[in-house]
Amino acid sequence: MLLIENFINGSYCAPLDSTYLDNVNPATGIVISKIPRSNKKDIDLAVQSAQAAFPNWSASSQESRFLILNKIAEGIESHLNELALAETNDTGKAISHSRQIDIPRAASNFRFFATAAMQFASESHDMPKRAINYTLRQPIGIVGCISPWNLPLYLFTWKIAPALATGNCVIAKPSELSPTTAFLLGKICKEAGLPDGVLNIIQGYGTEAGEAIIQHPDIKAISFTGGTKTGKHIATQVAPKFKKLSLELGGKNPCLVFADCDYEQTLKQVVRLAFSNSGQICLCGSRILIEERIYEQFKKDFIAKVDKMLPSDPLDPDCKMGSLISNEHLNKVLNYIELAKEEGGSILSGGTQIKLSGRCEGGSFIKPCVIEGLGPDCRTNMEEIFGPVVTLQSFKTDEQALELANCSQYGLASSIWTTNLNRAHRLAEQIQTGIVWINCWLLRDLRTPFGGMNNSGVGREGGYEAMRFFTEPKNICINYNSNL
Ligand code: NAD
Repeated sequence: MLLIENFINGSYCAPLDSTYLDNVNPATGIVISKIPRSNKKDIDLAVQSAQAAFPNWSASSQESRFLILNKIAEGIESHLNELALAETNDTGKAISHSRQIDIPRAASNFRFFATAAMQFASESHDMPKRAINYTLRQPIGIVGCISPWNLPLYLFTWKIAPALATGNCVIAKPSELSPTTAFLLGKICKEAGLPDGVLNIIQGYGTEAGEAIIQHPDIKAISFTGGTKTGKHIATQVAPKFKKLSLELGGKNPCLVFADCDYEQTLKQVVRLAFSNSGQICLCGSRILIEERIYEQFKKDFIAKVDKMLPSDPLDPDCKMGSLISNEHLNKVLNYIELAKEEGGSILSGGTQIKLSGRCEGGSFIKPCVIEGLGPDCRTNMEEIFGPVVTLQSFKTDEQALELANCSQYGLASSIWTTNLNRAHRLAEQIQTGIVWINCWLLRDLRTPFGGMNNSGVGREGGYEAMRFFTEPKNICINYNSNL
């Protein structure tokens, strides 16, 4: 059985207390590896190694950082098969998803921020005939990056790459449910020439290893992606310590379908945005709002497509939908479906556990679920389920559509499906989400600001937003007028 280790000071090592956790493949229910149950002592060791590495790394040239990060991107690409298999075995996601989306995007993250290191510039502000201000953007020091299980290497590298590009040293923790690709990344970084101690990867529980990262006095910034409840806890701990904090949290994303949409294309894309990665993407739409004029037709055609979707063995190259992340999460999702019924919802499709035979007989599979008949303010429509469960609601006017869309404590992403661009722009301006897609979904340009409003988080990732987050701006004012 694979024994996963921490990656500290450029070497793999056992947790100092020699305690381990089981890592279960959720598609089979079988333990596939042991992972370190790290604690404060391991974080202390990682911070010491990062402190030793910081002076050289922070003083290294942009070009040398570019070359190393670019080599890491190439290393990820050359280990595509190994990484994709590890991602699928940890999470139960379809192997095609790991191969075509998760791992390529992890390489793109490194390549993108490698070039950002070369392009990033700071500002200067001229005071005519008096003075010039210039701003230094200096690395913060040691930063903590904590990521979730749903897009493991994809989101892990989305934080680490800009932190390294800007000259910081990093203590990073993947989710305890998806440890393997982060473990393999250590070796790839070493081979790419990343100096020892610059990136330290620590495995374990959030409440132990994660908590030790957020509490550590020498870790000066925290970049966190995960659930809103965890984000709230981290905010309360980190705020009095005045650390920089970026929080990318949950969502309950609306999808607005208008009668004048490009019907066939919209139908196909709404199925995709609802159920990709078994609905376990923070950006998935879970509240489908449909204009009344086409509600019945759209519902019928949508259900016809969803009825045909069946989860299967994620290692099958033709698999479109794998398992959920764990049996515990499956039960949470099934409980929400029971709640929806209690709240008066009708199940139009799926919502039941699926038992596969053979290799996957012990897996956590569910048939995607479509619910109608619920108002906007019931728990099913207010709380993040984070599984393949969507509700349908109808609206008559643009104003009603907007009201339903904004009836949420969350504000991560939305999508608008219409051929009327005036309406699309007007609604996009008023909708309360950090990301709005018009006639598309998950179309990503890595330069754009990424993140949510309200309970979906604080701050933005992506492009220069991330480069700014991971640097401390220092303004220097030079007076050149001796008469002042
Ligand atoms: P989670 O909050 O349970 O865990 C996320 C990470 O935080 C894990 O690594 C975990 O070990 C760690 N953690 C837990 N408690 C901690 C603590 N006290 N201190 C420090 N770290 C701690 O979330 P999850 O279940 O892994 O992920 C699913 C959630 O993530 C969903 O809510 C989803 O919407 C959200 N998400 C958001 C985005 C985004 O960009 N906004 C992207 C992906 C996922």
